[in-house]
Amino acid sequence: MTTITLGGSSLTCSRLAYGCWRIAGTQEPKEVTGERVAAAEAALLAAYEAGYTLFDLADVYCNGVCEAILGQALKEVSGLREKILIATKCGIRLAGDPDRDAPYRYDSTAEHIVWSAEQSLERLGVERIDLFMLHRPDWLMEPEEVARAFSQLQQEGKVREFGVSNFRPDQLALLQQACPMRLLVNQVEISLARLDAFTDGTLDQCMREHLTPMAWSPLGGGRLISTAPISMRDPQHARWQKIRDALDLVARHRGVTRTVVALAWLLKHPSGILPVIGSTNPDRIQEAAQLDHFELTREEWYRLLEAAYGQRLP
Ligand code: NAP
Repeated sequence: MTTITLGGSSLTCSRLAYGCWRIAGTQEPKEVTGERVAAAEAALLAAYEAGYTLFDLADVYCNGVCEAILGQALKEVSGLREKILIATKCGIRLAGDPDRDAPYRYDSTAEHIVWSAEQSLERLGVERIDLFMLHRPDWLMEPEEVARAFSQLQQEGKVREFGVSNFRPDQLALLQQACPMRLLVNQVEISLARLDAFTDGTLDQCMREHLTPMAWSPLGGGRLISTAPISMRDPQHARWQKIRDALDLVARHRGVTRTVVALAWLLKHPSGILPVIGSTNPDRIQEAAQLDHFELTREEWYRLLEAAYGQRLP
């Protein structure tokens, strides 16, 4: 697969990242069976063999189980660690952590960030995380405190580079101002089903500051691609159908799949969007990687935008 440089840093990775959120087949650790672990390992290997070299995780993905499964795969596949970049996130604390009554919340205190990175390192069984992100903006975030934790982790050699996720441009700028190191990425939801990043300044900021925008749910969590009928109860029913029809039209005309068109639509944007593929199906993981040599025309791109926008552009 073609490679890119993450946020103008020395980190190089594949043009598509592999997202590990769904690999355990559940978000409930108690429901993880041996069969599910085997399927997760098969998905990870399929991604590696298809050329993905950036693996995206978070401490909360199945409450640490997804990190542990990748850790196990790293032990089993010789040389894998050296060939991939590991990205993970911290800052979301689930309800009941650590006390039974504790609410679901965000935590960007230095103590939590450092502790969380150390826990991830242990589950992954590695010495260093390549890219460490704050998962969501903490309403009580103190930028200097985050900067202190990031600096400590970098000085101790536990993390190479840092980024954020789901940050608005002004929140990212505020944090960047306090940090001695450059933040490299903002991971946000971007797809034909979610256009906010194009209009809220996120992608403009990425271009101006040479950040890489990572797109989560690049296929709308599968809804853009699935052939299953869209429920009439879904208030967005008509819009989903319109986007699917527009994708099909281009896909048929160009002789590729709907997945390839939906991803190529993201890749065409000059900000260098890095889609994070979330399928757990080895064939689909491989299929997405085929978009490498495919490019949409400007006309095709705008036709798809118009379908997603729901009306003619002004
Ligand atoms: P996605 O690639 O948009 O969606 C993946 C889902 O689509 C899977 O359930 C997959 O099912 C389904 N799918 C794909 N192709 C399909 C097809 N042809 N027919 C039917 N279903 C199909 O991405 P995502 O999983 O929502 O998110 C990707 C990654 O982004 C995650 O793994 C995670 O790393 C990251 N993420 C980050 C945040 C954040 O806040 N930073 C939030 C969400 C996600 P199969 O597995 O059966 O193929």
